[in-house]
Amino acid sequence: MAASRTLTTFRLPPLPTIREIIKLFRLQAVKQLSQNFLLDLRLTDKIVRKAGNLTNAYVYEVGPGPGGITRSILNAGVAELLVVEKDSRFIPGLQMLSDAAPGKLRIVHGDVLTFKVERAFPESLKRQWEDDPPNVHIIGNLPFSVSTPLIIKWLENVSQRDGPFAYGRTQMTLTFQEEVAERLTASTGSRQRSRLSVMAQHLCHVQHLLTVPGRAFVPKPEVDVGVVHFTPLTRPRIEQPFPLVEKVVQSAFHFRRKYCHRGLGMLFPEAQRRESTGKLLQMAEVDPTLRPTQLSVSHFRSLCDVYREMCDKDPRLFAYNFREERKKNKCKDQEQEGDRESSRL
Ligand code: SAM
Repeated sequence: MAASRTLTTFRLPPLPTIREIIKLFRLQAVKQLSQNFLLDLRLTDKIVRKAGNLTNAYVYEVGPGPGGITRSILNAGVAELLVVEKDSRFIPGLQMLSDAAPGKLRIVHGDVLTFKVERAFPESLKRQWEDDPPNVHIIGNLPFSVSTPLIIKWLENVSQRDGPFAYGRTQMTLTFQEEVAERLTASTGSRQRSRLSVMAQHLCHVQHLLTVPGRAFVPKPEVDVGVVHFTPLTRPRIEQPFPLVEKVVQSAFHFRRKYCHRGLGMLFPEAQRRESTGKLLQMAEVDPTLRPTQLSVSHFRSLCDVYREMCDKDPRLFAYNFREERKKNKCKDQEQEGDRESSRL
């Protein structure tokens, strides 16, 4: 007997074009909110295909706007699509899409930076971390000012296996300013290598899959846009708490063009800086004359492991902040200067 095909393919019925929706609901892009829309459905289909097979998937779309990507996701045969949009002007247009796809599209008027997606989909979708990724995907074309802080927040969620990653290794397909996409995927030694490269690559398999020219958007942004796909790793390449890794990586890149010992020195109070930096680099077996961009994720793993040991021995070390020390020293210098002035009077 032939296997019965239970899947039915869903296609949206004929609808007004995105351009017509924009006109109908007067959805002119707000420049201050960095709104740039995709009107070409062949292009939104192409972006959505980069997310992988979405058949029967539960998808969380961030910032749907007038709904171009939303339509492509619905046409990909998803079980459910949840969209979170901050600008209320887009809700009626999205409602029209929801009516055309009964039971498939859930609309939330809210902010992706605070929305709790971990409660939004059925519990039964949850997978063990080591299993294949769950059938839950995040897709979004957000303003650049939101996508970068959001990916940092989500990377922290990956490391803690909470937020969208309470379902398991949820995959993400997101757009970034091309330069940021290049930084996210930059390899050791490349010009674009940065803090973001290490923070993303120690937790996820990161792929820059597509470049969308700025002219594809309305209004046209000043830069091209990169589509980046993230799959959390079963085991992070640096097994230390996110804030510790962030502190080490941030310090290392503090002086981007100098030898790495300069930036890493910022992890330690001035009085012990030379000695402790030397110890850190020696124990981690990292050449102090490498530039930050030449440090691999393995180098960072050793540095984080040794720094962790140093923090365990001296519990005040992790709280040390070189900026505060510099500020205090400046105040002290000013006070001493004041004392000298008044003694001269
Ligand atoms: N996805 C649509 C497209 O590709 O045509 C719109 C893209 S536009 C660059 C970004 C969208 O994200 C806008 O609709 C904007 O209102 C929305 N947005 C911006 N910040 C947001 C936030 N914090 N939470 C939810 N939506 C947000």
